[in-house]
Amino acid sequence: MEYSGPTELFIDGEWVDSEGGELFDTIDPATEDVYATVQKASADDVNAAVAAGDDAMSRGSEWTTMAPSERGELLRDMAEVIEEMKDEITLVESHDNGKTPFEAGMEVQMVIDTFRYYAGWTDKIRGEENPIPGQRLNYTTRESLGVTGHIVPWNYPFQLAGRSLAPALACGNTAVVKPSSQTPLSALYYGLAAEKAGLPDGVVNVIPGSGREAGNALAEHDDVAHIAFTGSTGVGKNVMEKAAQNVTGVTLELGGKGPNIVFPDADIEAAANGVHYGIFMNAGQMCWAGSRLLVHEDVHDEVVDAVVDGAESTPLGSGIDDDARMGPVVSKSQQKEVLGYIQTGVDEGATVATGGGVPEDKDQGYFVEPTVLTDVTNDMTVAREEIFGPVLSVITFEDREEVIEIANDSPYGLMAGVWTNDLSTAHTVTDGLNYGMVSVNEYPVTFPQTPFGGTKESGSGREQGTEAIHEYTQAKNVNINLG
Ligand code: NAD
Repeated sequence: MEYSGPTELFIDGEWVDSEGGELFDTIDPATEDVYATVQKASADDVNAAVAAGDDAMSRGSEWTTMAPSERGELLRDMAEVIEEMKDEITLVESHDNGKTPFEAGMEVQMVIDTFRYYAGWTDKIRGEENPIPGQRLNYTTRESLGVTGHIVPWNYPFQLAGRSLAPALACGNTAVVKPSSQTPLSALYYGLAAEKAGLPDGVVNVIPGSGREAGNALAEHDDVAHIAFTGSTGVGKNVMEKAAQNVTGVTLELGGKGPNIVFPDADIEAAANGVHYGIFMNAGQMCWAGSRLLVHEDVHDEVVDAVVDGAESTPLGSGIDDDARMGPVVSKSQQKEVLGYIQTGVDEGATVATGGGVPEDKDQGYFVEPTVLTDVTNDMTVAREEIFGPVLSVITFEDREEVIEIANDSPYGLMAGVWTNDLSTAHTVTDGLNYGMVSVNEYPVTFPQTPFGGTKESGSGREQGTEAIHEYTQAKNVNINLG
Protein backbone atom coordinates (compact mmCIF):
# COMPACT_ATOMS: atom_id res chain seq x y z
CA MET A 1 0.00 0.00 0.00
CA GLU A 2 1.33 3.42 -1.01
CA TYR A 3 1.22 5.98 1.78
CA SER A 4 -1.22 8.79 1.01
CA GLY A 5 -1.76 10.29 4.48
CA PRO A 6 -0.42 13.52 5.95
CA THR A 7 3.32 14.25 5.97
CA GLU A 8 3.36 17.89 7.15
CA LEU A 9 3.42 19.23 10.69
CA PHE A 10 0.03 20.11 12.21
CA ILE A 11 0.39 23.44 14.04
CA ASP A 12 -2.40 25.86 15.05
CA GLY A 13 -4.94 24.04 12.89
CA GLU A 14 -2.78 24.21 9.72
CA TRP A 15 -0.70 21.63 7.86
CA VAL A 16 2.69 23.30 7.44
CA ASP A 17 6.23 22.59 6.30
CA SER A 18 9.03 22.62 8.85
CA GLU A 19 10.67 26.02 9.51
CA GLY A 20 14.02 24.29 9.17
CA GLY A 21 13.07 22.88 5.75
CA GLU A 22 14.29 19.39 6.67
CA LEU A 23 12.59 16.10 5.76
CA PHE A 24 13.17 12.54 6.93
CA ASP A 25 12.28 9.06 5.66
CA THR A 26 10.40 6.41 7.53
CA ILE A 27 11.20 2.79 6.61
CA ASP A 28 8.83 -0.19 6.37
CA PRO A 29 10.67 -2.77 8.54
CA ALA A 30 9.18 -5.71 6.60
CA THR A 31 10.44 -4.54 3.18
CA GLU A 32 13.32 -2.22 4.22
CA ASP A 33 11.91 0.32 1.68
CA VAL A 34 11.14 3.97 2.32
CA TYR A 35 7.43 4.12 3.16
CA ALA A 36 7.00 7.91 3.51
CA THR A 37 8.96 11.14 3.67
CA VAL A 38 7.91 13.46 6.44
CA GLN A 39 8.54 17.07 7.50
CA LYS A 40 11.04 17.17 10.37
CA ALA A 41 10.17 19.58 13.18
CA SER A 42 12.94 21.94 14.27
CA ALA A 43 13.21 23.77 17.60
CA ASP A 44 11.45 26.72 15.92
CA ASP A 45 8.52 24.47 15.02
CA VAL A 46 8.34 23.33 18.65
CA ASN A 47 8.17 27.00 19.69
CA ALA A 48 5.38 27.62 17.16
CA ALA A 49 3.41 24.58 18.34
CA VAL A 50 3.76 25.52 22.02
CA ALA A 51 2.77 29.12 21.22
CA ALA A 52 -0.34 27.84 19.40
CA GLY A 53 -1.23 25.66 22.40
CA ASP A 54 -0.65 28.61 24.74
CA ASP A 55 -2.84 30.86 22.62
CA ALA A 56 -5.65 28.33 22.60
CA MET A 57 -5.41 28.26 26.44
CA SER A 58 -5.57 32.04 26.82
CA ARG A 59 -8.22 33.53 29.10
CA GLY A 60 -11.56 33.88 27.32
CA SER A 61 -10.58 31.57 24.41
CA GLU A 62 -13.11 29.25 22.80
CA TRP A 63 -11.42 26.19 24.35
CA THR A 64 -11.28 27.55 27.91
CA THR A 65 -14.83 28.93 27.94
CA MET A 66 -16.73 26.05 26.36
CA ALA A 67 -18.95 23.95 28.63
CA PRO A 68 -17.16 20.83 29.89
CA SER A 69 -19.89 18.68 28.30
CA GLU A 70 -19.16 20.33 24.93
CA ARG A 71 -15.50 19.35 25.37
CA GLY A 72 -16.77 15.82 25.95
CA GLU A 73 -18.74 15.99 22.69
CA LEU A 74 -15.57 16.98 20.83
CA LEU A 75 -13.67 14.02 22.31
CA ARG A 76 -16.54 11.72 21.35
CA ASP A 77 -16.42 13.17 17.81
CA MET A 78 -12.67 12.52 17.70
CA ALA A 79 -13.34 8.88 18.65
CA GLU A 80 -15.87 8.66 15.85
CA VAL A 81 -13.57 10.19 13.24
CA ILE A 82 -10.76 7.84 14.32
CA GLU A 83 -13.18 4.92 14.03
CA GLU A 84 -14.03 6.00 10.47
CA MET A 85 -10.29 6.08 9.65
CA LYS A 86 -9.58 2.84 11.56
CA ASP A 87 -8.70 0.64 8.57
CA GLU A 88 -6.41 3.27 7.09
CA ILE A 89 -4.60 4.01 10.37
CA THR A 90 -4.24 0.27 11.02
CA LEU A 91 -2.48 -0.30 7.70
CA VAL A 92 -0.30 2.79 8.08
CA GLU A 93 0.77 1.67 11.57
CA SER A 94 1.45 -1.82 10.30
CA HIS A 95 3.73 -0.54 7.50
CA ASP A 96 5.42 2.10 9.63
CA ASN A 97 6.15 -0.08 12.65
CA GLY A 98 6.13 -3.63 11.23
CA LYS A 99 3.46 -4.99 13.55
CA THR A 100 0.74 -7.22 12.11
CA PRO A 101 -2.55 -5.60 11.04
CA PHE A 102 -4.25 -7.57 13.83
CA GLU A 103 -1.97 -5.95 16.42
CA ALA A 104 -2.24 -2.51 14.83
CA GLY A 105 -6.04 -2.82 14.80
CA MET A 106 -6.05 -3.51 18.56
CA GLU A 107 -3.97 -0.37 19.06
CA VAL A 108 -6.42 1.81 17.14
CA GLN A 109 -9.39 0.26 18.96
CA MET A 110 -7.77 1.01 22.33
CA VAL A 111 -7.49 4.67 21.29
CA ILE A 112 -11.16 4.82 20.26
CA ASP A 113 -12.13 3.32 23.63
CA THR A 114 -9.83 5.71 25.47
CA PHE A 115 -11.31 8.82 23.82
CA ARG A 116 -14.84 7.57 24.57
CA TYR A 117 -13.91 6.87 28.18
CA TYR A 118 -12.43 10.35 28.74
CA ALA A 119 -15.26 12.02 26.81
CA GLY A 120 -17.45 10.88 29.70
CA TRP A 121 -15.12 12.45 32.27
CA THR A 122 -15.17 16.07 31.11
CA ASP A 123 -18.22 17.16 33.15
CA LYS A 124 -17.40 15.01 36.16
CA ILE A 125 -14.05 16.53 37.17
CA ARG A 126 -14.85 18.21 40.46
CA GLY A 127 -13.25 19.61 43.56
CA GLU A 128 -14.33 19.34 47.20
CA GLU A 129 -15.23 21.34 50.25
CA ASN A 130 -12.79 21.03 53.13
CA PRO A 131 -14.01 20.75 56.74
CA ILE A 132 -11.74 23.35 58.42
CA PRO A 133 -12.17 25.13 61.80
CA GLY A 134 -13.81 28.56 62.23
CA GLN A 135 -16.24 30.64 60.20
CA ARG A 136 -14.79 29.85 56.83
CA LEU A 137 -15.72 28.32 53.52
CA ASN A 138 -12.77 26.34 52.18
CA TYR A 139 -12.82 24.42 48.94
CA THR A 140 -10.44 22.93 46.40
CA THR A 141 -11.01 23.08 42.66
CA ARG A 142 -9.19 21.08 39.99
CA GLU A 143 -7.93 23.24 37.16
CA SER A 144 -6.33 22.45 33.83
CA LEU A 145 -2.54 22.80 33.57
CA GLY A 146 -1.93 24.54 30.23
CA VAL A 147 0.10 23.25 27.28
CA THR A 148 1.00 19.58 27.71
CA GLY A 149 3.86 17.93 25.78
CA HIS A 150 3.53 14.28 24.71
CA ILE A 151 6.75 12.48 23.75
CA VAL A 152 5.96 9.09 22.26
CA PRO A 153 8.04 5.93 21.48
CA TRP A 154 7.91 3.75 18.37
CA ASN A 155 6.44 0.51 19.73
CA TYR A 156 2.77 1.60 20.08
CA PRO A 157 2.94 4.96 18.32
CA PHE A 158 -0.79 5.60 17.91
CA GLN A 159 -1.98 4.19 21.20
CA LEU A 160 0.65 5.77 23.42
CA ALA A 161 0.06 9.22 21.91
CA GLY A 162 -3.70 8.80 22.44
CA ARG A 163 -3.30 7.39 25.95
CA SER A 164 -2.09 10.72 27.34
CA LEU A 165 -3.69 13.01 24.74
CA ALA A 166 -7.28 11.99 25.58
CA PRO A 167 -7.12 12.70 29.34
CA ALA A 168 -5.06 15.88 28.77
CA LEU A 169 -7.81 17.23 26.47
CA ALA A 170 -10.60 15.97 28.75
CA CYS A 171 -9.05 18.05 31.54
CA GLY A 172 -9.13 21.17 29.33
CA ASN A 173 -5.45 21.33 28.39
CA THR A 174 -3.93 21.80 24.96
CA ALA A 175 -1.33 19.44 23.52
CA VAL A 176 1.84 19.18 21.46
CA VAL A 177 2.49 15.59 20.35
CA LYS A 178 5.96 14.49 19.26
CA PRO A 179 6.01 10.96 17.86
CA SER A 180 9.20 8.95 17.43
CA SER A 181 11.09 9.69 14.21
CA GLN A 182 11.05 5.93 13.51
CA THR A 183 7.24 5.80 13.42
CA PRO A 184 5.91 9.32 12.84
CA LEU A 185 2.87 8.62 10.66
CA SER A 186 -0.06 7.45 12.79
CA ALA A 187 0.24 10.40 15.21
CA LEU A 188 -0.40 12.77 12.31
CA TYR A 189 -3.91 11.30 12.15
CA TYR A 190 -4.61 13.08 15.46
CA GLY A 191 -4.21 16.31 13.46
CA LEU A 192 -6.76 15.02 10.94
CA ALA A 193 -9.10 13.87 13.72
CA ALA A 194 -8.89 17.24 15.52
CA GLU A 195 -9.58 19.02 12.25
CA LYS A 196 -12.53 16.82 11.28
CA ALA A 197 -14.02 16.85 14.78
CA GLY A 198 -13.79 20.66 14.84
CA LEU A 199 -11.49 21.26 17.80
CA PRO A 200 -10.40 24.92 18.06
CA ASP A 201 -7.10 25.70 16.34
CA GLY A 202 -4.03 25.12 18.47
CA VAL A 203 -5.64 22.64 20.88
CA VAL A 204 -3.91 19.67 19.21
CA ASN A 205 -0.52 20.10 17.50
CA VAL A 206 1.54 17.23 16.04
CA ILE A 207 5.23 17.64 15.23
CA PRO A 208 7.21 14.61 14.05
CA GLY A 209 10.92 15.13 14.65
CA SER A 210 14.02 13.83 16.32
CA GLY A 211 14.35 13.34 20.04
CA ARG A 212 17.59 15.27 20.08
CA GLU A 213 16.10 18.45 18.62
CA ALA A 214 12.28 18.46 18.83
CA GLY A 215 11.94 16.22 21.91
CA ASN A 216 14.58 18.13 23.76
CA ALA A 217 13.11 21.53 22.85
CA LEU A 218 9.69 20.39 24.08
CA ALA A 219 11.02 18.95 27.36
CA GLU A 220 12.90 22.15 28.24
CA HIS A 221 10.27 24.63 27.03
CA ASP A 222 9.27 26.97 29.82
CA ASP A 223 5.72 27.44 28.48
CA VAL A 224 4.99 23.71 28.72
CA ALA A 225 3.10 22.88 31.91
CA HIS A 226 3.47 19.10 31.86
CA ILE A 227 5.40 16.46 29.92
CA ALA A 228 3.93 13.01 29.35
CA PHE A 229 6.94 10.94 28.34
CA THR A 230 6.77 7.30 27.25
CA GLY A 231 10.04 5.69 26.26
CA SER A 232 13.27 4.25 27.57
CA THR A 233 14.41 4.77 31.15
CA GLY A 234 17.64 6.51 30.04
CA VAL A 235 15.88 9.13 27.93
CA GLY A 236 13.15 9.45 30.57
CA LYS A 237 15.74 10.49 33.16
CA ASN A 238 17.11 13.01 30.69
CA VAL A 239 13.65 14.44 30.01
CA MET A 240 13.00 14.69 33.76
CA GLU A 241 16.23 16.64 34.20
CA LYS A 242 15.30 19.03 31.38
CA ALA A 243 11.80 19.54 32.74
CA ALA A 244 13.22 20.15 36.21
CA GLN A 245 14.91 23.35 34.96
CA ASN A 246 11.43 24.91 34.74
CA VAL A 247 9.91 22.78 37.53
CA THR A 248 7.62 21.28 34.86
CA GLY A 249 5.65 18.24 35.99
CA VAL A 250 6.34 14.90 34.29
CA THR A 251 4.59 11.58 33.87
CA LEU A 252 7.19 8.96 33.03
CA GLU A 253 6.18 5.63 31.49
CA LEU A 254 9.45 3.74 31.02
CA GLY A 255 10.88 0.26 30.60
CA GLY A 256 10.08 -3.10 32.15
CA LYS A 257 11.27 -6.66 32.73
CA GLY A 258 7.95 -8.29 33.56
CA PRO A 259 7.88 -11.64 35.39
CA ASN A 260 5.19 -14.13 34.39
CA ILE A 261 4.97 -16.47 37.40
CA VAL A 262 3.55 -19.97 36.89
CA PHE A 263 2.60 -22.17 39.87
CA PRO A 264 2.01 -25.93 39.50
CA ASP A 265 -1.72 -25.63 40.32
CA ALA A 266 -2.33 -23.26 37.39
CA ASP A 267 -4.19 -24.13 34.20
CA ILE A 268 -0.95 -24.89 32.35
CA GLU A 269 -2.38 -24.54 28.85
CA ALA A 270 -3.84 -21.13 29.65
CA ALA A 271 -0.60 -20.10 31.35
CA ALA A 272 1.51 -21.15 28.36
CA ASN A 273 -0.77 -19.18 26.04
CA GLY A 274 -0.50 -16.13 28.29
CA VAL A 275 3.28 -16.44 28.46
CA HIS A 276 3.42 -16.74 24.65
CA TYR A 277 1.21 -13.72 24.06
CA GLY A 278 3.07 -11.74 26.75
CA ILE A 279 6.45 -12.06 25.02
CA PHE A 280 5.78 -12.55 21.31
CA MET A 281 3.01 -10.00 20.81
CA ASN A 282 4.37 -6.95 18.95
CA ALA A 283 7.56 -9.01 18.44
CA GLY A 284 8.29 -8.54 22.14
CA GLN A 285 8.67 -4.79 21.74
CA MET A 286 6.52 -3.97 24.74
CA CYS A 287 7.33 -2.17 27.97
CA TRP A 288 5.05 -4.63 29.75
CA ALA A 289 6.41 -7.74 27.99
CA GLY A 290 6.48 -10.79 30.24
CA SER A 291 10.12 -11.27 29.32
CA ARG A 292 10.99 -13.38 32.38
CA LEU A 293 9.12 -16.65 32.81
CA LEU A 294 9.41 -17.64 36.47
CA VAL A 295 8.19 -21.22 36.51
CA HIS A 296 7.87 -23.65 39.41
CA GLU A 297 10.42 -26.46 39.06
CA ASP A 298 7.65 -29.13 39.09
CA VAL A 299 6.07 -27.81 35.87
CA HIS A 300 9.16 -26.36 34.17
CA ASP A 301 9.32 -28.92 31.34
CA GLU A 302 5.59 -28.95 30.68
CA VAL A 303 5.34 -25.16 30.47
CA VAL A 304 8.54 -24.70 28.47
CA ASP A 305 7.52 -27.41 25.96
CA ALA A 306 4.16 -25.72 25.41
CA VAL A 307 5.74 -22.26 24.98
CA VAL A 308 8.38 -23.68 22.58
CA ASP A 309 5.62 -25.36 20.52
CA GLY A 310 3.74 -22.05 20.36
CA ALA A 311 6.89 -20.18 19.33
CA GLU A 312 7.69 -22.67 16.58
CA SER A 313 4.19 -22.52 15.12
CA THR A 314 3.94 -18.71 15.04
CA PRO A 315 3.65 -17.51 11.41
CA LEU A 316 6.02 -14.60 10.80
CA GLY A 317 5.17 -12.05 8.14
CA SER A 318 4.80 -8.50 7.03
CA GLY A 319 2.07 -5.97 7.65
CA ILE A 320 0.17 -6.93 4.53
CA ASP A 321 0.13 -10.63 5.35
CA ASP A 322 -3.18 -11.43 7.08
CA ASP A 323 -1.93 -14.80 8.36
CA ALA A 324 1.11 -13.32 10.11
CA ARG A 325 1.03 -13.43 13.91
CA MET A 326 4.43 -11.83 14.49
CA GLY A 327 6.08 -9.12 12.43
CA PRO A 328 9.69 -7.94 12.19
CA VAL A 329 11.31 -5.74 14.83
CA VAL A 330 11.27 -2.04 14.06
CA SER A 331 14.74 -1.46 12.56
CA LYS A 332 18.03 -3.02 11.57
CA SER A 333 19.73 -1.65 14.67
CA GLN A 334 16.98 -3.12 16.87
CA GLN A 335 17.42 -6.50 15.15
CA LYS A 336 21.17 -6.33 15.78
CA GLU A 337 20.63 -5.41 19.43
CA VAL A 338 18.19 -8.26 20.06
CA LEU A 339 20.52 -10.81 18.41
CA GLY A 340 23.36 -9.40 20.49
CA TYR A 341 21.38 -10.00 23.70
CA ILE A 342 20.70 -13.62 22.68
CA GLN A 343 24.44 -14.16 22.16
CA THR A 344 25.20 -12.57 25.54
CA GLY A 345 22.67 -14.94 27.12
CA VAL A 346 24.39 -17.94 25.58
CA ASP A 347 27.83 -16.63 26.58
CA GLU A 348 26.62 -16.31 30.18
CA GLY A 349 25.28 -19.90 30.28
CA ALA A 350 21.73 -19.86 28.87
CA THR A 351 20.46 -22.59 26.52
CA VAL A 352 18.52 -21.75 23.35
CA ALA A 353 15.41 -23.95 23.58
CA THR A 354 14.08 -22.53 20.32
CA GLY A 355 14.83 -19.66 17.92
CA GLY A 356 17.96 -17.64 18.55
CA GLY A 357 18.51 -16.08 15.13
CA VAL A 358 17.07 -14.70 11.92
CA PRO A 359 14.48 -17.01 10.28
CA GLU A 360 16.01 -18.82 7.31
CA ASP A 361 13.16 -17.98 4.94
CA LYS A 362 13.34 -14.25 5.64
CA ASP A 363 16.04 -12.63 3.55
CA GLN A 364 14.21 -9.29 3.64
CA GLY A 365 12.91 -7.41 6.67
CA TYR A 366 14.20 -7.14 10.23
CA PHE A 367 12.86 -10.47 11.54
CA VAL A 368 14.03 -12.30 14.67
CA GLU A 369 12.83 -15.81 15.51
CA PRO A 370 10.62 -16.17 18.58
CA THR A 371 13.27 -17.25 21.08
CA VAL A 372 13.13 -19.13 24.39
CA LEU A 373 16.23 -19.19 26.61
CA THR A 374 16.32 -21.76 29.43
CA ASP A 375 18.86 -22.26 32.25
CA VAL A 376 18.72 -18.53 32.97
CA THR A 377 19.50 -17.16 36.42
CA ASN A 378 18.25 -13.80 37.57
CA ASP A 379 21.72 -12.24 37.64
CA MET A 380 22.30 -12.78 33.89
CA THR A 381 22.09 -9.84 31.50
CA VAL A 382 19.07 -11.36 29.70
CA ALA A 383 17.18 -11.43 33.01
CA ARG A 384 18.12 -7.92 34.09
CA GLU A 385 18.02 -5.76 30.97
CA GLU A 386 15.07 -4.92 28.76
CA ILE A 387 15.77 -6.70 25.45
CA PHE A 388 12.75 -5.27 23.62
CA GLY A 389 12.48 -8.22 21.24
CA PRO A 390 10.87 -11.70 21.10
CA VAL A 391 13.17 -13.30 23.68
CA LEU A 392 11.88 -15.13 26.76
CA SER A 393 14.24 -15.90 29.66
CA VAL A 394 13.16 -18.89 31.77
CA ILE A 395 14.06 -19.09 35.47
CA THR A 396 12.85 -21.79 37.94
CA PHE A 397 11.71 -21.36 41.53
CA GLU A 398 10.76 -23.59 44.47
CA ASP A 399 8.24 -21.63 46.54
CA ARG A 400 6.26 -18.41 46.96
CA GLU A 401 8.85 -16.56 49.03
CA GLU A 402 11.63 -17.34 46.58
CA VAL A 403 9.61 -16.27 43.57
CA ILE A 404 8.57 -12.97 45.15
CA GLU A 405 12.25 -12.28 45.83
CA ILE A 406 13.31 -13.13 42.26
CA ALA A 407 10.46 -11.12 40.72
CA ASN A 408 11.29 -8.04 42.82
CA ASP A 409 15.02 -8.34 42.22
CA SER A 410 14.90 -6.11 39.14
CA PRO A 411 15.52 -2.44 38.44
CA TYR A 412 12.01 -2.37 36.94
CA GLY A 413 8.48 -2.73 38.33
CA LEU A 414 5.91 -2.32 35.58
CA MET A 415 3.65 -5.37 35.14
CA ALA A 416 3.76 -8.87 36.65
CA GLY A 417 1.62 -11.93 35.88
CA VAL A 418 0.64 -14.68 38.33
CA TRP A 419 -0.80 -18.03 37.19
CA THR A 420 -2.44 -20.05 39.97
CA ASN A 421 -5.81 -21.46 41.00
CA ASP A 422 -4.99 -21.15 44.68
CA LEU A 423 -6.63 -18.09 46.25
CA SER A 424 -4.07 -17.78 49.01
CA THR A 425 -1.14 -17.97 46.55
CA ALA A 426 -2.78 -15.38 44.28
CA HIS A 427 -3.23 -12.87 47.11
CA THR A 428 0.06 -13.53 48.88
CA VAL A 429 2.15 -13.17 45.73
CA THR A 430 0.18 -10.17 44.43
CA ASP A 431 0.70 -8.48 47.79
CA GLY A 432 4.43 -9.20 47.76
CA LEU A 433 5.14 -7.91 44.25
CA ASN A 434 6.61 -4.42 43.97
CA TYR A 435 4.94 -3.69 40.60
CA GLY A 436 2.55 -1.02 39.36
CA MET A 437 0.29 -3.63 37.77
CA VAL A 438 -0.31 -7.31 38.58
CA SER A 439 -2.61 -9.59 36.60
CA VAL A 440 -3.73 -13.03 37.75
CA ASN A 441 -4.49 -15.74 35.14
CA GLU A 442 -4.34 -13.28 32.21
CA TYR A 443 -1.39 -11.44 30.69
CA PRO A 444 -0.86 -8.72 29.62
CA VAL A 445 -4.03 -6.73 30.08
CA THR A 446 -5.04 -3.13 30.61
CA PHE A 447 -8.09 -0.94 30.03
CA PRO A 448 -8.66 2.80 29.59
CA GLN A 449 -10.44 2.65 32.98
CA THR A 450 -7.44 1.23 34.91
CA PRO A 451 -4.21 2.95 35.96
CA PHE A 452 -1.10 2.14 33.92
CA GLY A 453 2.40 2.71 35.27
CA GLY A 454 5.26 1.28 37.22
CA THR A 455 7.48 1.44 40.27
CA LYS A 456 11.27 1.98 40.44
CA GLU A 457 12.89 2.60 37.04
CA SER A 458 9.64 1.80 35.22
CA GLY A 459 8.48 5.34 35.80
CA SER A 460 6.55 7.77 37.92
CA GLY A 461 2.93 8.84 37.77
CA ARG A 462 0.12 6.93 36.11
CA GLU A 463 -1.69 7.10 32.79
CA GLN A 464 -5.29 5.93 32.23
CA GLY A 465 -8.18 5.70 34.69
CA THR A 466 -9.05 8.29 37.32
CA GLU A 467 -5.32 8.64 38.04
CA ALA A 468 -4.74 10.43 34.72
CA ILE A 469 -7.35 13.03 35.66
CA HIS A 470 -5.12 13.89 38.61
CA GLU A 471 -2.01 13.95 36.39
CA TYR A 472 -3.56 16.47 33.97
CA THR A 473 -5.22 18.81 36.50
CA GLN A 474 -3.90 20.76 39.46
CA ALA A 475 -5.50 21.59 42.80
CA LYS A 476 -6.34 25.17 43.72
CA ASN A 477 -7.38 25.77 47.30
CA VAL A 478 -9.72 28.68 48.04
CA ASN A 479 -10.35 29.98 51.56
CA ILE A 480 -13.14 32.49 52.35
CA ASN A 481 -13.33 34.08 55.77
CA LEU A 482 -17.03 34.39 56.57
CA GLY A 483 -16.54 36.18 59.93
P1 NAD B 1 13.25 6.30 23.39
O1 NAD B 1 13.43 6.67 24.83
O2 NAD B 1 14.45 6.12 22.56
O3 NAD B 1 12.36 7.41 22.64
C1 NAD B 1 11.09 7.80 23.13
C2 NAD B 1 10.75 9.19 22.61
O4 NAD B 1 11.68 10.11 23.18
C3 NAD B 1 10.88 9.34 21.08
O5 NAD B 1 9.86 10.20 20.62
C4 NAD B 1 12.24 10.00 20.93
O6 NAD B 1 12.36 10.75 19.73
C5 NAD B 1 12.27 10.90 22.15
N1 NAD B 1 13.60 11.32 22.59
C6 NAD B 1 14.79 10.69 22.38
N2 NAD B 1 15.79 11.41 22.94
C7 NAD B 1 15.22 12.50 23.51
C8 NAD B 1 15.73 13.60 24.26
N3 NAD B 1 17.04 13.73 24.53
N4 NAD B 1 14.86 14.53 24.72
C9 NAD B 1 13.53 14.38 24.49
N5 NAD B 1 13.00 13.39 23.77
C10 NAD B 1 13.83 12.43 23.30
O7 NAD B 1 12.30 5.01 23.41
P2 NAD B 1 11.91 4.09 22.19
O8 NAD B 1 13.13 3.34 21.78
O9 NAD B 1 11.17 4.89 21.17
O10 NAD B 1 10.84 3.11 22.87
C11 NAD B 1 11.17 1.97 23.59
C12 NAD B 1 11.16 2.23 25.08
O11 NAD B 1 9.90 2.74 25.49
C13 NAD B 1 11.35 0.95 25.88
O12 NAD B 1 12.24 1.17 26.94
C14 NAD B 1 9.95 0.67 26.42
O13 NAD B 1 9.91 -0.09 27.59
C15 NAD B 1 9.43 2.05 26.64
N6 NAD B 1 7.97 2.05 26.69
C16 NAD B 1 7.32 2.25 27.90
C17 NAD B 1 5.93 2.19 27.97
C18 NAD B 1 5.19 2.38 29.26
O14 NAD B 1 3.99 2.66 29.23
N7 NAD B 1 5.82 2.21 30.42
C19 NAD B 1 5.19 1.94 26.81
C20 NAD B 1 5.89 1.72 25.62
C21 NAD B 1 7.28 1.79 25.56
